[in-house]
Amino acid sequence: MTFEIQVGEATVVQVTELERWPFQPRELFPAVRDAHVAGAAEAFGPRFVDEATGELVLAIHTYVIRLGGTALVVDTGNGNHKERPNLPPHHRFDTDFLERFERAGVDVRDVDVVVNTHLHPDHCGWNTRLDGDRWLPTFPAATYVFGHDELADLRALATANPTEGVEADLARAYEDSVRPVLEGGRWEVAGDGHVLAAHGDTSVVLRAAPGHTGGHSIVEIRSPGGGAVLCGDVIHHPVQLLYPHLSQAGDADPALASRTRDALLGRCAGDALLLLPAHFPGDHPFTLTRTDAGLRLSSAKGERG
Ligand SMILES: [Zn+2]
Repeated sequence: MTFEIQVGEATVVQVTELERWPFQPRELFPAVRDAHVAGAAEAFGPRFVDEATGELVLAIHTYVIRLGGTALVVDTGNGNHKERPNLPPHHRFDTDFLERFERAGVDVRDVDVVVNTHLHPDHCGWNTRLDGDRWLPTFPAATYVFGHDELADLRALATANPTEGVEADLARAYEDSVRPVLEGGRWEVAGDGHVLAAHGDTSVVLRAAPGHTGGHSIVEIRSPGGGAVLCGDVIHHPVQLLYPHLSQAGDADPALASRTRDALLGRCAGDALLLLPAHFPGDHPFTLTRTDAGLRLSSAKGERG
């Protein structure tokens, strides 16, 4: 599944790692009620809520932005062969993602910049690939851009050497998906407002969007004719449009995550920004419209690939 759209002078290609990633609702949103799931099923249909099982359905997408001769990858998915025994949905993927990437017309050797919105396992996994028994940067010519606070927080967690639970798997993500880049690749840290690429009247900018993690960022494409937001884990599933208080189980600061989500989604509606989510199933961008009943989600038109 993939699409290609134009935003100003930038071209954006979606490359999907996993089309269908189902979760028991409470596994994803601990405070969710059956009525919320039923509301989401009615509003968004079976693509987002499995009719047979009642599961909430996510996907995992990455995005390639081309602008003025620069190729950027935003988020790198879960990656293959990663040991995540305490996070079963992330454990030992074995997909054809790199072939999909190639089929989307992108050579990993030609990627100039890799950005992780945050360093949870499903957003930095393909930072590296397994070569024999070593993890090597998947994008050998790229500069990897990490959010300053995000990298500092994960390094501190890994340094504490947790051996149990989710924290042990986050430390594993540091060891197999971040440390090999720090030691064998090109990288830099950046913060709010950092311009990742610019050409003509179009720019690609890193923006702080904390809450899901303390150092979570989003990537905005800005042009006079319109913009787009690659929102990472600011929102996981459209049930959060109907019930904005629903925080995801992994939110580090649920109240801050909720404020960040409200502000971003409001801006998408107010400024007609395209929303390019990491986890909504589907091969198209989304738009948001404010109505008396709240924010309404629509599929955006775009050139489909
Ligand atoms: Zn995620």
